[in-house]
Amino acid sequence: MKLPKGPEQIIFELQKAGYEAFAVGGCVRDSLLGREPSDWDLCTSALPMQIKAVFEGRLRQRDTGLAHGTVTLLAPDGPVEVTTYRKDGKYTDHRRPDTVMLGVPLKEDLARRDFTINAMAMAPGETIRDPFGGKQDLEKRLIRCVGDPEQRFSEDALRILRALRFASQLDFTIDPATMKAARACAPLLANVARERVFQEMDKLLKGSGAGRVLAEGGDILAQVIPQVGRAQGFDLKSPMHDRDLWQHTAAAVGQAAAVREVRWALLLHDLAKPDCFAVDKKGVGHAPEHGQLGSQMAEEILRGLRAPNRLIGPVRLLVRYHDFPLAVKEQSVRRWLARLGPDLLEDLVEVKRADLWAHANRPEVKRRIAQLEEFQHLARTVVESNPCLRLEDMAVNGRDLIRAGICRPGPVTGRMLRRLLSEVIEGRAENDRRQLLALAKKFSREAEEQNRS
Ligand code: ATP
Ligand code: MG
Repeated sequence: MKLPKGPEQIIFELQKAGYEAFAVGGCVRDSLLGREPSDWDLCTSALPMQIKAVFEGRLRQRDTGLAHGTVTLLAPDGPVEVTTYRKDGKYTDHRRPDTVMLGVPLKEDLARRDFTINAMAMAPGETIRDPFGGKQDLEKRLIRCVGDPEQRFSEDALRILRALRFASQLDFTIDPATMKAARACAPLLANVARERVFQEMDKLLKGSGAGRVLAEGGDILAQVIPQVGRAQGFDLKSPMHDRDLWQHTAAAVGQAAAVREVRWALLLHDLAKPDCFAVDKKGVGHAPEHGQLGSQMAEEILRGLRAPNRLIGPVRLLVRYHDFPLAVKEQSVRRWLARLGPDLLEDLVEVKRADLWAHANRPEVKRRIAQLEEFQHLARTVVESNPCLRLEDMAVNGRDLIRAGICRPGPVTGRMLRRLLSEVIEGRAENDRRQLLALAKKFSREAEEQNRS
């Protein structure tokens, strides 16, 4: 196992000073899996003041986590967190320990960690410390709590979402006893800060096992997004669907490219369906306007989870339009490009594609997928031709219109420009200076005549 220079050096220095020191947690898990660890956390038998003394005058230090036993050392290749072996005291708020105890043996430090695969420690040239069978669970691709799962989840309910998140990220299954406890403890998720829920959901959605984890974890997710609860078992009463609303949603997420906006949009795309649902005379279900209502619901849910605006904006649009037909015509492509821009339009196509794949396997669905691919192809060709889609792209601007004596300065100029742009997007005019000025003259003459009559 190869450690980067910084953490390796820190381990050696601590060992030289007579302490134990190991890389621990996520970085051990990831390197055993052959994945690049996102950061290297170290643990040591040295107390915080002893850690600080060892590196005094050698590495810059940050004391932000001192109360919990963590010293951050600023090694040349990046910061490394070094934490004293620690045992958690009692949990009363179902989220954080009331107290922590420093200076316990390594095994106790590993015992406080959430899952067996996260409870291993290693140091260069030494055997891996793995008292809870983490390595075996990695081989079995299993998420399993260290200790009694119900106790561990009721100590800290965030662990419930972490279990789902790791299952999705690593594409692992959750051990049955752990899953059972996660379900039983799910109501405790009410104690977890909304932004932490969002972070875990965000990682879950990006994972390669997201579809499967959502399909199995509906009961749990309903505790953080109540609309998931009513989607479970909701019969869409349609020959186009062979799954209930929640299973359709999970399948759609699982089908989609791992693009953040796309996956969030698919999670939320149909959650308003039960509010708009009606069954026609033939017994077929319809949910008109569910995109409109759904986009408001998506925004509320994301705001509630304190999601960033740069996610909320695109997701709202993707949900809003996920059910709109995309006609394979240049004019329609230009309209969509003007509305969403090229990147978000690609995302919309992906949302629609994954949504369709999660429908019943019928010729009608196949036909719509093929049509969507044609639309995508056409859209890419149109984008390459660098079409005029925004006021800034136009061959005339407000000053041109004023100088030519067509418009007076003021809102009338902006209105004229937008009208000209729409003529270009609709394919009724070229983005050509002379043509546009002539057209503007014509429009303004028509307006005058109308005023006179
Ligand atoms: P990531 O790749 O997302 O960073 P990670 O496993 O490193 O995954 P962190 O949140 O960085 O996750 O936590 C580092 C380690 O601390 C974990 O591997 C685990 O051993 C322990 N840990 C983190 N959060 C908890 C928790 N809520 N309960 C118990 N142990 C935890
Ligand atoms: Mg980490």
